[in-house]
Amino acid sequence: ETAHKTNFIRNIIDRDLANNKTHGKVITRFPPEPNGYLHIGHAKSICLNFGLALAYQKGPCHLRFDDTNPANEEAEFVAAIKEDVKWLGFDWGDNLFYASDYFETLYALAVKLITEGNAYVCDLTADEVRAHRGTLTESGKDSPYRQRSVEENLQKFEQMRQGLFDEGTCTLRAKIDMSAGNINMRDPALYRIKKVTHPHTGELWCIYPMYDFAHAASDAIESITHSLCTLEFQDHRPLYDWVVEKCGFENKPQQIEFSRLNLNYTITSKRKLKYLVEHKLVSGWDDPRMPTIRGLRRRGVTPAAIRRLIDLVGISKQDSITDYSLFEEVIRDDLNQTAERRNAVLKPLLVEIANLANEVLNVPNHPQNPDFGRRDISISNRIYIEQDDFMEQLEKGHKKLSLNGRARLLNAYVIECYDLEKDHLGNIAKLKCRYLPETLGGKKPSDGIKPQGMLHWVDANNCINAEIKQYDRLFNCENPAALDNLEQGLNPHSLVVINNAKLEASLAQTEAETRFQFNRLGYFCADQVEHSASNIVFNQIVNLRDTWAS
Ligand code: ATP
Ligand code: MG
Ligand code: MG
Repeated sequence: ETAHKTNFIRNIIDRDLANNKTHGKVITRFPPEPNGYLHIGHAKSICLNFGLALAYQKGPCHLRFDDTNPANEEAEFVAAIKEDVKWLGFDWGDNLFYASDYFETLYALAVKLITEGNAYVCDLTADEVRAHRGTLTESGKDSPYRQRSVEENLQKFEQMRQGLFDEGTCTLRAKIDMSAGNINMRDPALYRIKKVTHPHTGELWCIYPMYDFAHAASDAIESITHSLCTLEFQDHRPLYDWVVEKCGFENKPQQIEFSRLNLNYTITSKRKLKYLVEHKLVSGWDDPRMPTIRGLRRRGVTPAAIRRLIDLVGISKQDSITDYSLFEEVIRDDLNQTAERRNAVLKPLLVEIANLANEVLNVPNHPQNPDFGRRDISISNRIYIEQDDFMEQLEKGHKKLSLNGRARLLNAYVIECYDLEKDHLGNIAKLKCRYLPETLGGKKPSDGIKPQGMLHWVDANNCINAEIKQYDRLFNCENPAALDNLEQGLNPHSLVVINNAKLEASLAQTEAETRFQFNRLGYFCADQVEHSASNIVFNQIVNLRDTWAS
């Protein structure tokens, strides 16, 4: 999808190729930190990086786990991220990497930096480092350890590696400029001591490289040509370039920043998503209301719809907020073309059709696309329609069945209601109708009296019971990320569980994750986790119309 649309990054790449700057190569990477699940924001970075690799090289983009901070990272996230990238439709081929694979190389690079006078071991505590750093308006102060000899630095760094020092007692710092206007250049840390087990390297290391060092060096090691990241890293670019330069890499990857994906009515911050999970405000990372890839998948959103959204939003340096309605529209458009139609009744009202015997009707699976084929559905003297599709006295402006009124059953006959029964509470328990045999195939009643509206229905004699989860946006405020307390923005109606929905019999064999349009209701997906032949559970993906538009 992204392949044919131009953007400022493609313009840079085109220029680099024209100038032979990267020797005809375009190598990109997606570098997630395995400290949580991917969300819709990550999808932008994935589509961009994998899309460019495909467009320019017909080749895979590198998937690199930025596993340099073992305190936060778990193997479970590595597996989940791989699964999610694949599900989104991308393939890294043989190019699966871990920053931790480079720990030995990175250590050697750090030794090179020390040897060439570009790094030193600093014994200041974190608080002292902060106090020396200065502010935007005030220059920093040199560390008293800045003038250590190369020999002493090499020895101390080796001792750091051997575990002779406690956490927090020293760091390896780049020797750049404590008066630099860009605070990132004021002798940033390159290594810190962390005595924790790493999911990949186990107990091998007790010093770990800092993000800016590890990331720039990893890019260069992998011969990445264009290193794409979000705008907040703009101020880190001079340090990125410094690392590449001082480490002596011939290949000089170019960092290019683009704006993050922001969606209103939702949050795209791992930390805040984690809060929702930990405070049990959702059922988990894959709750169908979560903007995680897992949540969207379980909800029934297609990978194509996610890719299409990213494509529509485009790539720029302009910060913007994308309207959630656009996402829903894209999901609808996709499902309208790809989902077969079925019948389901969420709030059943029994209808007896006195003069109708059992009959089988052959109906289209998709009204606009004959390629989806047809199926048989049954109708009998007992059907269910939606309670909301009946009104005892028809009011103006409504298209419904009413007492002594007529309506058409979708793909079937016109019926007319001549009587009804109520229960002891006064609720309508049953409608009594007759059908007009001449009206099959959209034909008009012979007496010329038109039906008021079109109803979906299921055969009460063989329909199946189902649980249906109707979802709405998790937040009812536009910018939940700005709230002090996420609870304040939650939409209390974001989940409605319907226990006794009735589905047409053909849905009994549905496999999990199959998507349908339930006629006149919306798009639904058999739940990835809970659905089985003995426990039919569908999630509403999106309704048929935007109900949030003002
Ligand atoms: P979070 O802020 O949610 O913790 P992160 O940026 O720390 O996300 P990483 O695992 O480091 O998470 O992200 C991997 C890549 O995805 C990075 O290159 C990052 O820039 C990109 N990314 C993360 N969020 C977004 C977003 N909202 N829009 C575009 N790219 C994003
Ligand atoms: Mg990050
Ligand atoms: Mg983060």
